[in-house]
Amino acid sequence: MTAKVIPLIDQRAASRVPVIPTHRPVPGGTLADTRGRRLRDLRISVTDRCNFRCTYCMPKSVFERDYRFLPRTELLSFEEITRIARLFAAHGVEKIRLTGGEPLLRKNLEVLIEMLAALKTHNGKPLDLTLTTNASLLSKKAQAFKAAGLQRVTASLDSLDEAVFRAMNDVDFPVADVLKGIDAAHDAGFAPIKINMVVKKGVNDQDIVAMARRFKGSGHIVRFIEFMDVGSTNGWRMNDVVPSAEIVRMISAEMPLIEAEPNYTGEVAERWAYADGSGEIGVISSVTQAFCATCTRARLSTDGKLYTCLFAQSGRDLRALMRSGKSDEQMAGAIGLIWNQREDRYSEIRTAATVRTKKIEMSYIGG
Ligand code: SAM
Ligand code: SF4
Ligand code: SF4
Repeated sequence: MTAKVIPLIDQRAASRVPVIPTHRPVPGGTLADTRGRRLRDLRISVTDRCNFRCTYCMPKSVFERDYRFLPRTELLSFEEITRIARLFAAHGVEKIRLTGGEPLLRKNLEVLIEMLAALKTHNGKPLDLTLTTNASLLSKKAQAFKAAGLQRVTASLDSLDEAVFRAMNDVDFPVADVLKGIDAAHDAGFAPIKINMVVKKGVNDQDIVAMARRFKGSGHIVRFIEFMDVGSTNGWRMNDVVPSAEIVRMISAEMPLIEAEPNYTGEVAERWAYADGSGEIGVISSVTQAFCATCTRARLSTDGKLYTCLFAQSGRDLRALMRSGKSDEQMAGAIGLIWNQREDRYSEIRTAATVRTKKIEMSYIGG
């Protein structure tokens, strides 16, 4: 495979102003795309900035001192984010995840959380409101987030090995401070806490079992994520991916695992429970087992662009619509039309291409 790499944080420049359809049915939570996939999840990036420089996400070679992050005026305000979130909820979104960049760098994030927590799904239930963070600032904010109505927290931690973790975050950030953040979230009442570990072959795959061992029985759920071709380096190679099946095999050799049922259709992580009943892990096989067929996620970038796929090259500029004075009805119509026209299945296509390439390689070597 060629090294095609897509930015995960939102410095994607291209965008189009969405079309507002003349026929605008009232949103009823039943919106589906061209492949029948409902709109159920919205990831909102609240900042494009980060205090880490994870080598697989915001490498220093790109995000150096004079990198141009978005100026304040280009960020969606909390009111604008809440307005868009409300329209998405009317269209069927039940789960909102705040992310970034590092979301805790956005000032007064608890105020936004409180505003979003007051929203309801299309059938009148509270939204599932969650946050992904590198946990570096979590010990200061966990209590305030809980009080504001945040329901769940996911923390990222790529290794328990000090040298490996400091090299991966590339700002010399210590493991102990991330663990303090996770503890603070636990003390504030968040449970279960999910812990994301991106696995890169030859970098931190030797730490997989130690990570599972450390959190087994803690109530936290470690989720091992296959290294993806997002980020701003051009360094992604299939050879850097440790397949989830291999991760499960490694952990299970020491601490036997049994496959568990998904919590709901379309759950991204595959669940594996410890045979002795002491909890579970998850694996996210974005590369080796694409889950586009059940993908119900939309993404809102920090500057208000709507992306219908993690790998989409261009977004639709909802901020432009909003700031030109469009009504809720017009905005909802535009969002509905974008989702109705969605065709994305990037990972599926990549997986198929990888399998084809492997077959060709095998035929060359007589396999
Ligand atoms: N800064 C926060 C954090 O690190 O948790 C939130 C934003 S970060 C972009 C969201 C998640 O994406 C993190 O768990 C991170 O590890 C994961 N991620 C970033 N780059 C990735 C890549 N190339 N492959 C797989 N996961 C990646
Ligand atoms: Fe990317 Fe999150 Fe790492 Fe920041 S902490 S560089 S946003 S993965
Ligand atoms: Fe969804 Fe597939 Fe796009 Fe990933 S690649 S965001 S699973 S459609």
